[in-house]
Amino acid sequence: MKKWNLFLVFLVSSVLMAACGTPQNGAEPGKSESDKLQVVTTYSILYDIVKNVGGDRVEIHSLAPVGSNPHEYDPLPADVQKTTDADAVFYNGLNLEAGNSWFEKLLHTAGKSGQDAPVFRMSEGVAAKHLTTKGKESEEDPHAWLDIRNGIKYAENARDALIKIDPAHKETYEQNAKKYIEQLDALHQEAVKQYNLIPKEQRVLVTSEGAFKYFSEAYNFDAAYIWEINAENQGTPEQVRQVVDVIREKKLPALFVETSIDPRSMEMVSRETGVPIVGTVFTDSLGKPGEDGDTYIKMMEWNIKTIYDGLTKK
Ligand SMILES: [Zn+2]
Repeated sequence: MKKWNLFLVFLVSSVLMAACGTPQNGAEPGKSESDKLQVVTTYSILYDIVKNVGGDRVEIHSLAPVGSNPHEYDPLPADVQKTTDADAVFYNGLNLEAGNSWFEKLLHTAGKSGQDAPVFRMSEGVAAKHLTTKGKESEEDPHAWLDIRNGIKYAENARDALIKIDPAHKETYEQNAKKYIEQLDALHQEAVKQYNLIPKEQRVLVTSEGAFKYFSEAYNFDAAYIWEINAENQGTPEQVRQVVDVIREKKLPALFVETSIDPRSMEMVSRETGVPIVGTVFTDSLGKPGEDGDTYIKMMEWNIKTIYDGLTKK
């Protein structure tokens, strides 16, 4: 009888302990039952880079939807919840998520604005380029990822951040990153090789937003644009007139339009100059899942080919 009582006490306390969750086997804050790291990225391009490095270890919620402009975004209640619960948050920096301070406000609301918050800047270590518009020269240009060498830096930063918050899986992150960086490096070399086939004076890229500064330096292009950075999705009449003058003066043969931007301004430039829009390029967003450019590598492959074909078409 005594023995039986002891057994009962043991049984009841075991059940109670399991129900309450002990520190040893209970879920840590922010972790789902799946035990994957809960990650938030600010837009689709970072989503894909972190996914490649994190592999099966991460579950990612991306904020600005595919096809939208991450310069400005209005977080939804679900975004606030995911950011609050996240083990790690990744953003571009370099003045990208700055429109209306949307990202700063989100971090504040989600309790992640402190010094020790697990918030990581993907462009850490990138040599920043600045805007050239009068009065904006101190503002950084965010589009570093359009130079694939910077994409490699982003992957390294994602790797180091994931190791920092989840050191138990260091080897996995290192292996994933190594494999991914090899692919990025090969693509960069291929782009250099291909663009060297185009005479320097023909390497001019005309787009709506001036998003190609880093790209231009990497692949030795000149760039012209209607407006320098996305604040609105339409150029002013003055901005349209200026780029029309440049196109006429330099006899530029081809225009490009971005997937994440309203094409009407570039269509107006095309009508004014008689110069055709020869292709669509990805800048601030991946393509929709299952469609062209739906990964960082695929979007860069698409851009490299579209720009090459557009400028060499007779
Ligand atoms: Zn942009």
